[in-house]
Amino acid sequence: MVRTRFAPSPTGYLHIGGLRTALYAYLYARKAGGKFILRIEDTDLERYVDGAVEIIYRTLKEAGLSYDEGPDVGGDYGPYVQSERKEIYRKYAQQLLDSGDAYVCFCSKERLEQIHKDGATKYDKHCLHLPREEVERRIAAGEPYVIRQNVPLTGKTTYTDLVFGDITVDNKDLEDNILIKSDGLPTYNFANVIDDHLMGINVVIRGVEYLSSTPKYNLLYRALGWELPQYIHLQPIMRDAQHKLSKRHGDASYEDFIKKGYLKEAIVNYIALLGWSPKDNREKLSLDEMIELFSLDGISKSASIFDEAKMRWLNGQYIKELSDEAFYEKAKPFLEKCDYLKGFDLRYLAGLLKGRTEVLSDVADLTAFIDKFDGFDLDLFCNQKWKTDRNTASAMLPDLLPLLDADDLHAALETYAAERGYKKGQVLWVFRIAITGSAVTPGGATEMKELLGAARCKARIEEVLKRLK
Ligand code: GLU
Repeated sequence: MVRTRFAPSPTGYLHIGGLRTALYAYLYARKAGGKFILRIEDTDLERYVDGAVEIIYRTLKEAGLSYDEGPDVGGDYGPYVQSERKEIYRKYAQQLLDSGDAYVCFCSKERLEQIHKDGATKYDKHCLHLPREEVERRIAAGEPYVIRQNVPLTGKTTYTDLVFGDITVDNKDLEDNILIKSDGLPTYNFANVIDDHLMGINVVIRGVEYLSSTPKYNLLYRALGWELPQYIHLQPIMRDAQHKLSKRHGDASYEDFIKKGYLKEAIVNYIALLGWSPKDNREKLSLDEMIELFSLDGISKSASIFDEAKMRWLNGQYIKELSDEAFYEKAKPFLEKCDYLKGFDLRYLAGLLKGRTEVLSDVADLTAFIDKFDGFDLDLFCNQKWKTDRNTASAMLPDLLPLLDADDLHAALETYAAERGYKKGQVLWVFRIAITGSAVTPGGATEMKELLGAARCKARIEEVLKRLK
């Protein structure tokens, strides 16, 4: 049975790259009818952020990535928090010490800095040959120490990554990683191996930054007599050609996009396409469709660039599919943030806005004209399609003033257009610009009048006429 896992470190909001790793591990497991496991990797106390664990649970739950076993749901291996498993890592570290695949190292920070200053690119195995009695004596005396992996100096280590193919490194290029730190906690480099094995993970899916350290992990698997998992390393998601998307540099997290008014389905859908594409190149996919179509050969060997415009577009597709009521519920908090909409019928307004909204926060821009009407660019009257310009506007607008008293404004504008030999679109264009100062507004003429009231519409037209002179 396939068992994959997502192993985030609780260091803050779940960023887009992390969520994608989780998604692919989830899809891979579900496609194979296997299990998807969550593991919280909290052994780096310096980077630990309070509340981050809750964010991980919440985000995975919201995004629909249900895990089968995890710290909060239990499972075969029970609740799982690395910082509580110190003894387990110690036990395996001892096994590696006994077999000579690891050794105790007392080197001080100063010594390590010095050897690097002297040109060393990696640790020089200085403590490897300390006599056992000396090691025991110094430990007993309370001297701080770490446990290092003893990587062979000769030979090569090879493994096959399911995306990148064969990866071979010369063992002499590998560093003797620290496995257990002086605080007694394991490093990621050690804990990931122990835990992946103990959790029965047989397909490891993670970022490409681990591609080159995986041979070291494989040496640990071998030293412990364990079977290697399969590996799938994922290329990064880039902000642009040069820079990785990174939460440290302020790139948006899942929660930031939710706050901006993206729908979770659209975010998950878009993220899925950052590094994978289905055979038919379909772009709009539900989670179930992704499970059905997910395959290794669709995973990209090159980095993908995050394109927010594309995600906006996709989000707009999801918004179009919402029922009016569902859209209203989702748009409501964004409409309520606009003070000038107090007293408005927000349900009615939402109905007008739905077709023009790509991201929920757009509703503020789309309704801004209700509040603001100052000095817009009069060249907005120029429209090639409708063949209108400032002159057309100057000629037409005085005639439109009395029409605002008509019961059915739309019909009145239509009759006016027919009588004067204008196209309906020409009249509506001039009306819209004069009333709102904006080319994109919700609803037609009747709705605009309803939102603003006839008196404000007239005042705006008069103001525009003054400026057109
Ligand atoms: N805790 C590691 C990280 O957040 C996990 C890497 C892995 O999946 O093995 O980068």
